[in-house]
Amino acid sequence: MNPEDKHAGKLFILSGPSGAGKGTICKELLAQTQVELSISMTTRNPRVGETDGVSYYFATKEEFLRKIDAGGFLEYAEVYGNYYGTPKEPVIEKLAAGIDVILEIDMQGALKVKENYPDGVFIFILPPSMAELRKRLTGRGTETAEAIEMRLGETLKELSYIDKYDYCVVNGKLEEAVARVKAITIAEHSKVTFTAEELISKYKEEV
Ligand code: ADP
Ligand code: 5GP
Repeated sequence: MNPEDKHAGKLFILSGPSGAGKGTICKELLAQTQVELSISMTTRNPRVGETDGVSYYFATKEEFLRKIDAGGFLEYAEVYGNYYGTPKEPVIEKLAAGIDVILEIDMQGALKVKENYPDGVFIFILPPSMAELRKRLTGRGTETAEAIEMRLGETLKELSYIDKYDYCVVNGKLEEAVARVKAITIAEHSKVTFTAEELISKYKEEV
């Protein structure tokens, strides 16, 4: 309960090393909860099975740069040589309508969101080990061997940002990781975000 702000949705930011399982966890979360995913815009090429407007909004570099100039992103970053960004308007509208929104974005983006939305809930998804991470990236089969090495190389740097996050979930067993992230989304709605005076005055009105 939040007497001041009880109709506002919460912003959840999920990040962590590529291949840790963010996308997989998000998919389950969307199926099991009312949380909605923000669809990012990217200049990278679609992978097999990815649909424009569902996985990402696929854009040219020129289109992306125009949207930056128009102030259309909540955050954007260059990740592994491509641009990725969170379109601002849909997120703001959903939060205002009381809908929880999840951003699945890289660490640079998460840090930018933290500057502007310190009330966001920052969740770091970790693989159980580097060996398992390599196995998952290889098993996913969406990157070249060179791209996999680049993503693994980034992982140790990414770990150094852990202290900026509110929660850390190790994605060992998928069901367990999903249950933890789901629990976080529920618990965050029970946080004390109001003063004793506000609470007392609300209850006084109802006596
Ligand atoms: P990310 O979005 O973090 O880059 P993905 O969700 O694409 O990672 O997961 C990377 C690969 O690992 C996928 O092939 C996915 O099916 C697999 N995966 C995800 N979570 C688990 C898990 N808990 N156990 C085993 N494999 C997993
Ligand atoms: P992929 O190419 O594997 O889909 O994503 C590569 C990386 O870009 C992942 O770490 C993913 O979380 C990140 N990413 C996806 N969308 C966004 C976004 O809108 N902003 C930022 N900053 N990163 C994003």
